[in-house]
This record gives sequence, structure tokens and C-alpha cells, in this order.
Amino acid sequence: ATTTTTTTNHVFKSKLPDIPIPNHLPLHTYCFQKLSEFSDRPCLIVSSTGKSYSFSDTYLISQKTGAGLSNLGIKKGDVIMILLQNCAEFVFAFMGASMIGAVTTTANPFYTAAEIFKQFKNSNAKLIITHSQFVDKLREAPADGAAPDQNNYLKLGEHFKVVTVDDPPENCLHFSVISEANEKELPEVVIDPEDPVALPFSSGTTGLPKGVILTHKSLITSVAQQVDGENPNLYLKEDDVVLCVLPLFHIYSLNSVMLCSLRAGAAVLVMHKFEIGTLLELIQRYQVSVAAVVPPLVIALAKNPMVAQFDLSSIRVVLSGAAPLGKELEEALSSRVPGAVLGQGYGMTEAGPVLSMCLAFAKEPLPSKSGSCGTVVRNAELKIIDSETGCSLGYNQPGEICIRGSQIMKGYLNDAEATATTVDKEGWLHTGDVGYVDDDEEVFIVDRVKELIKFKGFQVPPAELESLLVSHPSIADAAVVPQKDEAAGEVPVAFVVRSNGLQLTEEAVKEFIAKQVVFYKRLHKVYFVHAIPKSPSGKILRKDLRAKLATPTHN
Ligand code: ATP
Ligand code: MG
Repeated sequence: ATTTTTTTNHVFKSKLPDIPIPNHLPLHTYCFQKLSEFSDRPCLIVSSTGKSYSFSDTYLISQKTGAGLSNLGIKKGDVIMILLQNCAEFVFAFMGASMIGAVTTTANPFYTAAEIFKQFKNSNAKLIITHSQFVDKLREAPADGAAPDQNNYLKLGEHFKVVTVDDPPENCLHFSVISEANEKELPEVVIDPEDPVALPFSSGTTGLPKGVILTHKSLITSVAQQVDGENPNLYLKEDDVVLCVLPLFHIYSLNSVMLCSLRAGAAVLVMHKFEIGTLLELIQRYQVSVAAVVPPLVIALAKNPMVAQFDLSSIRVVLSGAAPLGKELEEALSSRVPGAVLGQGYGMTEAGPVLSMCLAFAKEPLPSKSGSCGTVVRNAELKIIDSETGCSLGYNQPGEICIRGSQIMKGYLNDAEATATTVDKEGWLHTGDVGYVDDDEEVFIVDRVKELIKFKGFQVPPAELESLLVSHPSIADAAVVPQKDEAAGEVPVAFVVRSNGLQLTEEAVKEFIAKQVVFYKRLHKVYFVHAIPKSPSGKILRKDLRAKLATPTHN
């Protein structure tokens, strides 16, 4: 007999079969495709006012807003900036822009003027939709540090228009000017599936945020991978109330909460901002059934004593994403919402964003393990590669996660070079995340390649130590970063937030970790702090902590 060496190319697929995806349609047509099935059902419920918009209201107001944007001179291919906290107008503006072939770039309204205008200029936006409280910032803002008398200074009202959803300050327009336009004036545009519809920016966790071009085709594919098919991976029902507390300016909430609910006919409970007491009260009052969360919110739900005073039994699904969630914390939360299925999704702006999703959320659920990020979405391929050789690896072998499918970005905005190093010639998007796929096809994320701490030859994933730290009853929150060390190169050190009134020593923390991990993962130093810096999308800003370590007065 002859022995043949087979070079297997390990590609992981969903356990769910591929489905037909109508990604030739424009995004708004796809999202409202089944409108007639649930036109009178609640679509958006605004928690601050109690006002509710049905699906047909939402569709009509979006059409009017599209016509209104067009009346203001916004044409196919133009970019508008949505600079809003969560509100119904966010949805009308995004869908309205899609209807006229315009593109939306979303930004955090709490950004500084410089941050806003950098994105505004990069994306070549024409108009900003915001709240009046942020307008002063937009007046002060010279682009790229230019002074008011310089050429590239942008003047509100002259170089760009500002629309506010509340009382408009001087030179601004009220949102009703666009949302009350005549829907019959909606221009007819031909939209190609490859046309961009959204220009989200990545979170800026590892460097500066990067503009990401998502097309109609990308977003339809991503939404369909989650909620379409006989057995949807993320089963949303018409009587579901989906919590929308995560900021819509981040792609996680925009896609998995807003677009998925629109497509599936579920109601979205729109919360302006996060406050734990209000959140708990609203969950109880509106009988929230699906909660999309991020790890900092999981910490609050698992650790805040207020949670015990509310009835959260309406929640049937808790989806966590955007940052690592250890199994200890997942289990702690599960005791607070015993009736709910808990699981994770794994996303990255460039990936449209969802790469994998927990199969316990499916209509016909499959078991999933705590700590897993689910299984690769259907109609996509995932592989794990050895960073040195580029070869794909099999089950249980950690390496860089790569994804391929119609959902991924068209490219980075104005950065062909970064696009070429991220999406290779065969169409694989390289995530920069280290993970593995276990025997049950479940994806486990170890950490970002860039954030692994290198102790001598050994790799220490900070996320693993953070997850152990927050499982300690006297630790409210924690983050782990590398500190330079002569002997080892780098050693892991922790920033720890103690729970109120509890005495916890550095030695006790070190010991708590030491007894659970191999020697090279032990903490070398613990700094007690009052809070861990996090991005609004729920990520630990380790770069801020590393910078803090580099300055002599960090403790
Ligand atoms: P930037 O690329 O600008 O530095 P970012 O990568 O944080 O910022 P996003 O696109 O919002 O910006 O986040 C994607 C990253 O979030 C992923 O690459 C991954 O590291 C992390 N992530 C998302 N979901 C999970 C999850 N369930 N578990 C662990 N990490 C996750
Ligand atoms: Mg990233």
C-alpha cells in the first residue's frame, strides 16, 4: 500500500445548512420585505417617552426621511453622519438614507470635535444629524486643527448642514424638516448590491478607529446569516421585545439589534443611554425577551445587588458580544436569569460584523458550552491559521481566525494598503484574533494577537486572567496588561477595582490567581484603581492602561 500525504485545508462551516440569501436587493427592501406580515405590530418603542412606532409607521417615516434628505441635496453615493444617542430618528435616518442610495457613517456623539471632524472629513460627509446639546462642539470644530480663517475650516451651515432631533439651535434644521417630507418625492435610484450603505468605524481599541465600507450585499448577508432560514441561527419572533441599550453607532447594535429585528418583525426597545436602575425597570415593564449585551453590562447584571429587586423572567435570550466573556462570568449571570439561554456572538466591524453565533439561540437549538463564541455563521467559511506558516489548522489548535463570505467589508475607507493586508487575494479576512474550534464546531477566542503578553517564550492571554479576576467576589472589575521586565521580556500585571467596602490586598489577588494558573501566567503586580477604562462598545482600553504603566505615577 502506498501512503499519501494529504494536505488538508481545514475549513469550518456552520452546522446549519446554507440558505438562499436575497443579497441582490437593496438593504431597505430586504429589511422591510415581510412588512405586510407584521405592519401593525410595534417596531420601535422609545423608552424615554413610551412612544411606539409600528412597522408601517417606521417604513413610512423612513421613506419620508429619505425624500427629505434628497430635498436637502443628498444624492446617491453621498455620505451623511449620524451622531446620535439611541433614538427612533436614528433608524429613520439610516433607512431613509439607504432608500436614496446614500451612505451613513455613524459616530459617538461624545467624541471630541477633533475626533468627529476627522471622521467627517475622511468620509466626506455632507450633513450631520445630532442632538442640540452637541451642536456647540460642531461650531468650534476646525477640521484637522485648522484655524477658522484657514481654507479647510468647515463652517456649520455653510460647508455642511446640521439637523437636530430636538429644538434646533441657530443655523440648524429640525429633524421634522426631513421626516415630514412627501414620501412621493422619494427619488428612484438604482442600487447595485456592491454599493456602500454603511461606513461604520472600528472601535479604536488597538489604534485609531478605521473606516469600514459595508455594502448592501454585506449587511443583507450578515442579517440573513443570523435571522433567516427555516431554522434561524438567532431566532427572533414577532412577539419578542429586543433590548437596544448598546449604542447604535456601533455595528453590533446597528446590525444584530436594529436590522435583525426589522427583518424578523420583532419590537426594539430603544434606550437613550445606559443606567442600571432604569434598565432593570424597563426590562420588567416592557417584558424584554431578548437582551443584546456586552461584558461590562454582564458584570453589572451579575454583580449589582439591585438586580435581585426586579423580575427579569421575561428574558429568554441573552446575547453577549464585542469583547471576551469568560465562562465564570457567564455562569454568574446565568444564576441571575435562570430562565434564559445565554450565549455569545463574535463580531468584528470588518466582518460585517458577525463571524460566529451561539447555536443555542436557533429555532431548533443545539447545545453550546459556556465560554464559547458560538459556531461560524451559515453561508460562510472560517479557518484557523498558523500565523507563521499561514497553514490552516484543525480542531482544537489555536491560531489566527480568518473568515470568508459575502458579508465581509468591501474594504477600509481610503486605505487600499490596509485592505490588502487584511483581506487576502482569496477573499479571507484576517481578524487578528487568536482562537480555536473545538470538536463540536464551537469557536473559542483566546485573545487578540496584539494583546497576548509574551512571558519569555510563553503566551499569556490577558482575557483569561481578567475572567478569573472578575469571578472573585471582592473584585468588581479588572484588566490585565503587560509590563516590561528585564528577565522575562513582559510580565502580566493587573488593574483591579475592589467591590465597595471590601478589603482586598495585593497578595490575596496574586495568590487567588497563582493557585489557578500555570507559573508563567501569575500576576507580578496588582494596582488598585477606581475604574477600568472601557470603550462605549464594551472593550477594555488596554492601550490606555499600558500608557498609564509607562508613566511613573500610575499608582
Ligand atoms: P480597532 O480595530 O479599531 O482596534 P476593535 O477591533 O475593538 O477596534 P471592533 O470591530 O468593534 O473594533 O471589535 C472587533 C473585535 O472585538 C474583534 O476583533 C475581537 O477582538 C473582539 N470581540 C468581538 N466579539 C468578541 C467575543 N465574543 N469574544 C471575544 N472578543 C470579541
Ligand atoms: Mg479591530
